[in-house]
Amino acid sequence: MRTITVAILGDQLQHTPPALTYASQLTDPAHIRIMLVESQARLTLRPYHSHKITFIISALRHYAHTLRQQGWQVDYYQVDRWRTALQRHIADHGPDTIVTMAGAEYAARSAQHRWQAWCGTPVEILPNTQFLSAAHNPLAHTPTHKRTVMEPFYRALRQHYRILMDGDEPCGGTWNFDHANRKPLPARQSLPPPCHIPLDDITTQVCAEVAQMPAVQHSTTPFTLAVTHADAAQVLAHFITHRLPWFGDYEDAMSQRDHQLFHSLLSPYLNVGLIEPLTAIQAAEAAYRTGYAPLNAVEGFIRQILGWREYMYQSYWRHMPGLRTANTWDAQRPLPAWFWPGPTSGMHCLDTTIDRVWQHGYTHHIERLMLISNFCVLAGIDPIAVNEWFLAGYIDAYDWVMWPNVSGMGLHADGGLIATKPYIASGTYIEKMGDFCGSCRYHPKQRQGDAACPFTLLYWNFLLHHEQTLRTQPRMGPAVLGLRHLSPADRDIIPIQAQQWLATMVPSHDNPTQE
Ligand code: FAD
Ligand code: SF4
Repeated sequence: MRTITVAILGDQLQHTPPALTYASQLTDPAHIRIMLVESQARLTLRPYHSHKITFIISALRHYAHTLRQQGWQVDYYQVDRWRTALQRHIADHGPDTIVTMAGAEYAARSAQHRWQAWCGTPVEILPNTQFLSAAHNPLAHTPTHKRTVMEPFYRALRQHYRILMDGDEPCGGTWNFDHANRKPLPARQSLPPPCHIPLDDITTQVCAEVAQMPAVQHSTTPFTLAVTHADAAQVLAHFITHRLPWFGDYEDAMSQRDHQLFHSLLSPYLNVGLIEPLTAIQAAEAAYRTGYAPLNAVEGFIRQILGWREYMYQSYWRHMPGLRTANTWDAQRPLPAWFWPGPTSGMHCLDTTIDRVWQHGYTHHIERLMLISNFCVLAGIDPIAVNEWFLAGYIDAYDWVMWPNVSGMGLHADGGLIATKPYIASGTYIEKMGDFCGSCRYHPKQRQGDAACPFTLLYWNFLLHHEQTLRTQPRMGPAVLGLRHLSPADRDIIPIQAQQWLATMVPSHDNPTQE
């Protein structure tokens, strides 16, 4: 009887692992071993947020525990790197074949192709099934040099999977309710309760281990994330009940009152397989069909997963490895020290958001896009430094989702392959969509002088500096037209004041927390 090892990566914790299903068709379960690895090299690659490390390790240990309870033989390795685990495993068990599912990330997938050379055992790599567009990719026949947009991609997936469809028509007669989803949060709007999952013995032990790790950025906020399929299902149900009906209305809102608002905080679980994308989509659609949640909310939420998430995954694979070096705006400045715990910038919106990152490992989409990456585009921060920072700080950050979101959508460093325009805005937009400005020492409408909002100053400076390039981008038309309101004196003073302000930023390699 053939002996098979099923090797499962740390972000592939699916309820029914495809490699295990496949192996079970080839041999008797008694001849199958499952291999899981805690790789030190991976866990110490950068100064990760303590919640991210705790989440990854605890979810993996729970997964091993569940598989053992189901009767599988599980070999769990705590080693320096995957290669060591593979070689040790082959020496101990000598399987005829290793079966694994292709990694979602470029580096992981490249390594899987080297496994056979590392250990001398045949390796079968199955297609990745963590994305709905893997089975039906609307971009499959579009050449990679062609610019693409998300909307037709999303509609094709809705039609294929019959999501929010009434016959051949989209529910409500329109595909996209984005226009209805741009309300600021009213001061009196009550906020939903948080969904905190209690710690069990495994997670308590992991928290204690992570607390001793020197290279980690330790959060003072207690760890309350889900680490099993059952817990993650609880988080999904909590979101549907307490947040989904308002998700659309306040999707673009920002507030100093709360870091999550009506967002789901499901990305950590979707990204490691604790929740399947179709499960979350169908739960939201059911809330619409039963009349519990309105269509603008449900369509908006489903578009995030079936549209943006899938589109980003396909965009990553279309444009890697080039995305890693993309730098259209020639942004060279190092990340300021105040992106890390400790020092602050004086910009209340940005300081609040960065503090949320180091507390929770999470901020919602608009804070990522319109505060953090907006600032980084306007200040000309090196895209690699920005990506590295996101990867370290965010609990849901993985290579496949970072590069297209940060370098593509956020920084527009790819020259517009992924998003049709740079998402840049002045303090006026931040004032309209948030409630930070009232507590800030700067004034959002002021673009010169001591009280000038740095977002506003840098926004006008960016438009002036890149005026010719931006004029060639149809969607930037209104922004560039705004330059006609600047006097000749403004045109002279803004670049000088912007350079003076930027010169005050202390680079992050001078930050003692990074030594
Ligand atoms: P919700 O607002 O509740 O949305 C529901 C789900 O839709 C999310 O859980 C996520 O799975 C999916 N989704 C929505 N937008 C996107 C998108 N643009 N790309 C991929 N999935 C999306 N997402 C990550 O998963 N990891 C990251 O590291 C990450 N970094 C980002 C960095 C920048 C600069 C930007 C602009 C976006 C980034 N995103 C990232 C996308 C998005 O911001 C997060 O998925 C979302 O904020 C996660 O919070 P949530 O689960 O509460 O999302
Ligand atoms: Fe942010 Fe500018 Fe408003 Fe201050 S004034 S909170 S820096 S947008």
